[in-house]
Amino acid sequence: MDWHKLPFGYQKTSYNLRSIYQNGVWSPLEAYDSEYLTLHMAATSLHYGQEIFEGMKAFKGKDDKIRVFRWEENAKRFQHSAKGVLMPEVSVELFREAIFKVILLNKEYVPPYGTGASLYIRPLMIGTGAEVGVKPADEYLFLVFVTPVGPYFKEGFKPVNMMISREYDRAAPLGTGTFKTGGNYAGGLRAIRKAHEMGYANAIFLDAKEKKFIDECGPANFFGIKQNTYVTPESTSILNSITNKSLLQIAQDLGMNTERRKVPVTELETFEETGACGTAAVISPIYKIFDPDTQKTYTYGDGEPGPVSSRLYKKLTAIQQGDEPDLHNWTTVVE
Ligand SMILES: *Cc1c(COP(=O)(O)O)cnc(C)c1O
Repeated sequence: MDWHKLPFGYQKTSYNLRSIYQNGVWSPLEAYDSEYLTLHMAATSLHYGQEIFEGMKAFKGKDDKIRVFRWEENAKRFQHSAKGVLMPEVSVELFREAIFKVILLNKEYVPPYGTGASLYIRPLMIGTGAEVGVKPADEYLFLVFVTPVGPYFKEGFKPVNMMISREYDRAAPLGTGTFKTGGNYAGGLRAIRKAHEMGYANAIFLDAKEKKFIDECGPANFFGIKQNTYVTPESTSILNSITNKSLLQIAQDLGMNTERRKVPVTELETFEETGACGTAAVISPIYKIFDPDTQKTYTYGDGEPGPVSSRLYKKLTAIQQGDEPDLHNWTTVVE
């Protein structure tokens, strides 16, 4: 494997783990070497969107130990998502067992330290029971696969340009925005395509009701920096990012103030730095934000990452890789 040239994409590994939910219980995990599923054509996941997923990363440190970042937060969010689309919860214990076993079964695919690459872990759950009427299935599949991934952006930690989505929403205020379910992504695809067509890296979604406040930044959370303060939106339709939660904590550790509140579009011109955050890229600093409604472009810095975003990025990635003390016990060594 050429670790330095690894794309951010799917690569086959040796095994995935699966558990089946039938008659109210999850079966013991089983390892599969097949990448395929045999699925009933009337499965609820195919028709009514009963699908949830998670994403996290494992890193090999200088000491050759493999560390998983904040997996318990992902386990809890997976339960939150399950409840949101009426699927059975996976216990934190079963989630833990699946994550750690699947890493060990695919140990040779964990990229070496210093390559910028990591092992991406993708748990998912789908409704497999056959239904034609709209109701939750009575059978489910919980599956975890892994794939080694290179850095999200080939150019590295570089600012990107974003466009505000005025035509399309991602999630409704009382909808499924806080759940990590595929339907939210389907709903957002047109906005992302539009942004790409206009030459932007991604779309910034606004609150669907008033179209006044920043919601999410493509498949990531939004933050702005001003006057030593880290500001991130509060909303009933945001997927609460674990990266964002970690950056809020690091900002506090670094002596910054933090605010989680509504962020009006009009506030964009007051930020010194802005960025998108999520597991895939950690932070994507933003250079320009275009608002097609007002034809206004907000610009941050000179095209290089801002000093605060850079500090936050370095600190978080150093903790993930085991290079800096893990003061909040965010990493777990796989053994
Ligand atoms: C997964 C996801 C994020 C990022 O969450 P992390 O826990 O930081 O990876 C942000 N927004 C959406 C819509 C997501 O699905």
